[in-house]
Amino acid sequence: LKPSNKTFHVHPRLLSSDVYSQYESFRQGKQEIPKYFNFASDVLDKWSEIEKAGKRPSNPAFWWVNGKGEEVKWSFEELGFLSRKVANVLTKECGLQKGDRLILILPRIPEWWLVKVACMRAGIVIIPGTSQLSAKDILYRLQVSKATCIITTDKLAPAVDSVASQCQLLKTKLMVSKGSREGWLNFTEMYQNQSADHSCIKTKIQDPMIIFFTSGTTGFPKMAQHSQGSLGFRPLLSERYWLDLTPSNVVWNTADTGWILTSIASFFDPWVFGSCIFMHNLPQTDSAVILNTLCRFPIDTLIGAPTLFRMLVQNDLSKYKFMNLKYCISGGEPLNPEVMEQWKSQTGLEICEVYGQTEMGVICSVYGGMKIKPGSMGKAAPLYDVQIIDKNANILPPGQQGEIAIRSKPIRPLGFFSEYLDNPKKTAETERGDFYVTGDRGIMDEEGYFQFIGRNDDIIISSGYRIGPFEVENALIEHPAVVESAVVSSPDPLRGEVVKAFVVLSPNFSSTDKKSLISDLQDHVKKTTAPYKYPRKVEFVKELPKTITGKIKRNELRDKEWGRT
Ligand code: ATP
Ligand code: MG
Repeated sequence: LKPSNKTFHVHPRLLSSDVYSQYESFRQGKQEIPKYFNFASDVLDKWSEIEKAGKRPSNPAFWWVNGKGEEVKWSFEELGFLSRKVANVLTKECGLQKGDRLILILPRIPEWWLVKVACMRAGIVIIPGTSQLSAKDILYRLQVSKATCIITTDKLAPAVDSVASQCQLLKTKLMVSKGSREGWLNFTEMYQNQSADHSCIKTKIQDPMIIFFTSGTTGFPKMAQHSQGSLGFRPLLSERYWLDLTPSNVVWNTADTGWILTSIASFFDPWVFGSCIFMHNLPQTDSAVILNTLCRFPIDTLIGAPTLFRMLVQNDLSKYKFMNLKYCISGGEPLNPEVMEQWKSQTGLEICEVYGQTEMGVICSVYGGMKIKPGSMGKAAPLYDVQIIDKNANILPPGQQGEIAIRSKPIRPLGFFSEYLDNPKKTAETERGDFYVTGDRGIMDEEGYFQFIGRNDDIIISSGYRIGPFEVENALIEHPAVVESAVVSSPDPLRGEVVKAFVVLSPNFSSTDKKSLISDLQDHVKKTTAPYKYPRKVEFVKELPKTITGKIKRNELRDKEWGRT
């Protein structure tokens, strides 16, 4: 990233209709990346101007519903007006300054979007968190991030209070609530009474903007820091690389506000294209609510984790007539080809996969018009040179399995996280030769499509074979008795380690003889995939351990198998 001294302004015309080609000169390195960039003033406020000039379709910029008849619709102008008020609350009332850190733990309510935009206007660094965090999780996040302000709901305020005495740096607590609580400022009242006069602060393109805690699938969550450029400017450069959007699209992503997916899919990327962000507050992830919402609102793009689609295909989808759904995208975990097929046969719609990380944003994807290969995560996203490499950072040829890596030298591509905060050791561990290593294993085919094999630590080595858990899980889920499964290594005196499957059974099979079911499942895997992958051990469980994001914690099951704590 080589910034120039010029301030970057997105000309309104550039952002409308066929503009994106104009970024070609940035993309090709003919023009230097600007030194200054702020997503609020350089993108959102420009859309507001386009809207005022009548050059944007009349759909809202933000559209929120709660399923009980309440609805919020904002144009870009309204979003600007309200977020300036919030910026004044944060700076004038709370005394926050550029570079200060704020933890934002809100469910899917409109205030989340207002606070995010306001923080950008004021240069405050946002740390999103999910509402499912416990007091202990909040304590960990407050302490390691050194945040001075927290914004949450009355539901989580007691949890914050129970640990606040251990967080000396925490000065301001703001609550989005109709009620009041000692020691807390009432966000809603304060911002409604504020002036909407606020001039957006000037930020350098590398200035920190958001710190994400990773999912913690493999250990304590790490703090991955992103800049104005890596999240806000990258989509301007990488064109329609996974969301093929225009200002008339209506995009709904069901992920929790705490994860990078929501920041990308329900904030930066649709707004770069001037699209409408649709949001349902979804207090619980309920299939019927999701399916009915798709029938009642003109949502054309649906994004979610594979668990969402796994859940939806359990329903009789022929009962639902979606109003306008055209594009379905799944990311965050591997999607089983079986689920993809069921969804397609019932709705006629394909599911495109996207592969990414908190650290890197979108790394691979299947985008508009691309051929879909079930079981593949698509091709490298623009700006990223994605390769399969070996232990010594040598690039492996197509068809060979290795680690998924992104070229990081000589130029660190825009889109990369800046670092793991306060953890230079972990940051250094991701570097190998000219590459950043993702920690995931995969294969690239002759056409540049990537297939996910598994996380490095999840690979099972049995009698010399390398087995990715996902291939075995995919085979298992094709059996009618299997709702879900997790495959890990288990000790074996002869083979070193063997494949073990933890299986959640469909209720229809709960009374089937377990012994014969096990051999049935084993035979099924042997027939569906290479026989050496079949699970020599099978255990039936009620549920699988998962992260709050819904990812299977294979490491927890593996540790138990190996008697590690
Ligand atoms: P931690 O790093 O704290 O252990 P995490 O890696 O799960 O947690 P995230 O950054 O949320 O945290 O997840 C990124 C990881 O999720 C990727 O490295 C990959 O293992 C997995 N992943 C994401 N998208 C896909 C996908 N489409 N297919 C397969 N795996 C995916
Ligand atoms: Mg990770």
